Amino acid sequence: MKIRLYNAYVITCNDNFDIYENGEVWIEDDKIVYVGPPKINFMADKVVNCWGDIVMPGLINAHSHVPMQIFRGVAEDCDFQNWWYDNIRPFEEIITEDDMYWSTMLSIAEMVRGGTTSTLTTYFHQPSMTQAFETSGMRAAIGVDVKYRVPAEVRKKEWENRHASLDKGNPLVTFFVSSHSIFTVDEQGLNDCTSIAKKYGLPQCIHLCETLNEVGNCVKERGVTPVEYLEQEGFFDYPTVIAHGVHVDKNDIEILKKYDVSVAINMGSNLKLASGIAPVTSYLEKGVNLCLGTDSVASNNALNMFREMYLVSTVQKGYLKDAKVVSAKDVILMATRGGAKALQMEDKIGQLTAGYQADLIRISIKEPHWQPINNVLSNIVYSADASDVVMTVVAGSVLYEKGNFYIGHSYSSICEHCLQNIQRLKDTIKKSNS
Ligand SMILES: [Zn+2]
Repeated sequence: MKIRLYNAYVITCNDNFDIYENGEVWIEDDKIVYVGPPKINFMADKVVNCWGDIVMPGLINAHSHVPMQIFRGVAEDCDFQNWWYDNIRPFEEIITEDDMYWSTMLSIAEMVRGGTTSTLTTYFHQPSMTQAFETSGMRAAIGVDVKYRVPAEVRKKEWENRHASLDKGNPLVTFFVSSHSIFTVDEQGLNDCTSIAKKYGLPQCIHLCETLNEVGNCVKERGVTPVEYLEQEGFFDYPTVIAHGVHVDKNDIEILKKYDVSVAINMGSNLKLASGIAPVTSYLEKGVNLCLGTDSVASNNALNMFREMYLVSTVQKGYLKDAKVVSAKDVILMATRGGAKALQMEDKIGQLTAGYQADLIRISIKEPHWQPINNVLSNIVYSADASDVVMTVVAGSVLYEKGNFYIGHSYSSICEHCLQNIQRLKDTIKKSNS
């Protein structure tokens, strides 16, 4: 399939941050074959006049838990401990693969609707998650965890079998070795993850330094911060993405930089669960690779990367009382190039360049909140909404366009399944509590 997008305001996010005010993008199969000023001689199957709309790389959500979509709104106004242990875990005890498949499909619908083309996501029930991404055509990096409740001697074998059954060689679905956190995974478990990462040449991901409680307990029990602990364990010897990184000190940031660890900032989730504010400016000053994540909708409550872009800049400006920090361009790069590097795909996605994967979005500039347009980059970060996205393309396939989803199921059937499933889960919990 060949697609030609023309009459577009093209933001490439390439090394020169080239912008073509009247630009074109040509797609052939899964790749971009041309980006630049107007040009003819491309016989496309689909020709799109963008009428001045923005065309830019798809947004990359570097930390999510997509099967949790049906938990949106089930635990409100509580801090992390109460939110997870008292409210979310009872559901997690009884969810099924079918629940998680439809929940993931709903996440995919929300993501492609809002301009997200790929995500690094972790949760249990990886078979249904993987199947949903394969059905939809959206790109995902899926964290495969090590089961900690099985005997240590069979853990690695169990992981290998599961990974082998998940990995069907689909280029749109790649894998991470996932450790949930240092407070749920013991030292042996972390080491098992690291040795699997080494054997398979896979990157690792983990929640780290999300709350003061986590850091305080680590210092009390081990005499070191969580970042120092993972360094000691050799965890950072393999490419790693940490999610949150809220409570870190100067030395922690230096360690993260030294090992080229990517940090996924989840500003919306951290604010809502009152976990704190990540030191985004300090990370940027040290040159740490930053990317953006939404976390799950149980804690955020949306997979809205435009809102994350707004928050990561404005919260930092307000917190430091310095309007100069974290520019719109910084933010756009976090949501595109930063995410691509975190996913170990910086040579494939995150920018519009010939030879790269055709993961891109078209953003309408027609709504009143876009006018007048004096500064396009500012408008994207501070004025735009996820609903301004009118087209989302992943690997050359259109997954969303002007109200229509092309993700393997109708939007109405996805919603219907999710509603039925969450109702059943709530009824079960209610019955067991009565
Ligand atoms: Zn998380």
